[in-house]
Amino acid sequence: MSRLTPPRLKNDCFALPPGVDWTPVDEALARLRAALHPVVGTQTLPLEAALGRVLAADQTARRANPPGANAAVDGYGFARDALGEGDATLPLLEGRAAAGAPFRGAVPPGHAIRILTGALIPDGVDTVVLEEDVTTDGHRVAFETGMRRGANTRAAGEDVAAGADILRAGCRLRPPDLALLAATGTAKVEVCHPLRIAVLSTGDELAGPGATDDPARTFDANRPMLLALARAWGATPVDLGHARDDRGAVRAALDRGAAEADLILTSGGASAGDEDHVSAILAAEGHLTSWRIALKPGRPLALAMWDGVPVMGLPGNPVAALVCALVFARPAVGVLSGEGWTEPFAVTVPAAFEKRKKPGRREFLRARLTGDGAAEVFASEGSGRISGLSWAQGLVELADGAAHIRPGDPVRYLPYAGFGF
Ligand code: AMP
Ligand code: MG
Repeated sequence: MSRLTPPRLKNDCFALPPGVDWTPVDEALARLRAALHPVVGTQTLPLEAALGRVLAADQTARRANPPGANAAVDGYGFARDALGEGDATLPLLEGRAAAGAPFRGAVPPGHAIRILTGALIPDGVDTVVLEEDVTTDGHRVAFETGMRRGANTRAAGEDVAAGADILRAGCRLRPPDLALLAATGTAKVEVCHPLRIAVLSTGDELAGPGATDDPARTFDANRPMLLALARAWGATPVDLGHARDDRGAVRAALDRGAAEADLILTSGGASAGDEDHVSAILAAEGHLTSWRIALKPGRPLALAMWDGVPVMGLPGNPVAALVCALVFARPAVGVLSGEGWTEPFAVTVPAAFEKRKKPGRREFLRARLTGDGAAEVFASEGSGRISGLSWAQGLVELADGAAHIRPGDPVRYLPYAGFGF
């Protein structure tokens, strides 16, 4: 099926109004959200191929679940109101009602029929007694009539009515969503193409992991991390490799990214330093807006357009690169991919640490939960301490205005799992 693609973003979409200096995180997020719209086309897929895809249209139930009243247990069906209270002994009809093989006749009042879980309730039956609760000689069943009318049966549509809204456009399909669609009669769904996310590392110092013994070289840690994040977010990763601090090399990589992807994530070279060729070339040729965000770790965030494709220039430090990717790239990816803006999943837990911070900026700490549900943080805050990223199972987010956090104070904990990994 041919790819149908919505209009691209405008070149000035990330521009800041004059006079804006340190941008609070929430304001940066609001600006980012307003600048973006979905950029992926749609296609129709069978359910078995739709896991992880974003629904392009609202879905309604094509038929009710369950479609007809049926038995919730294995047992014997009868009409409750034909019986009194106390013990009952009912003659058993020939035949039975099984799932997929209904009993075609009617069950007269005062009679019972063998019925199995999932079988349509036969005419004349409204109640089922559990087989464990009867004695039978094969011709009669005896049981106590303490149950209410309708016991052990499921009503037609008691789960989902025919025509009911079941899933909204923008929903990223999970295994239980596929079950719901299937149970209500949908075999094919209109979904968005996966967003293609290109990832580029920049810096003369970078080398592939294990490629050199030279201590002047840094192994490229960001690219495998960012490519894996793209995959975790349901996107198709496009590996642009690593570009030297050289305009031509960066330009060639960006050209390839714009040709093959819907979003380009770069890391490194995003400040205004001498060797920051990413920001230099984006400023000259890519409508760059460098957002100085009141965020630790993280600033600056470079936002640009390269040949109609948005570029997010993440910091080079892996800790800052991850935090900026989770805080800014994740919700941006949601919008671009048709899912809509995503808020991080957060729980409020007591701090298992003490910390003093500068008010006026948001801080994220590498964290995990202790056995009794408090957040402990990694011993060092150094933004080159990659081991802490791996030690952590999430981030603690400290509010812009916070200054002194004491043990036991409530803090926001954002588990990695809420970011899909
Ligand atoms: P930059 O933002 O280019 O000034 O880089 C800041 C720091 O992050 C420097 O120490 C870089 O060597 C380091 N860095 C940049 N890119 C990467 C990467 N892909 N993997 C690991 N470290 C990096
Ligand atoms: Mg660099």
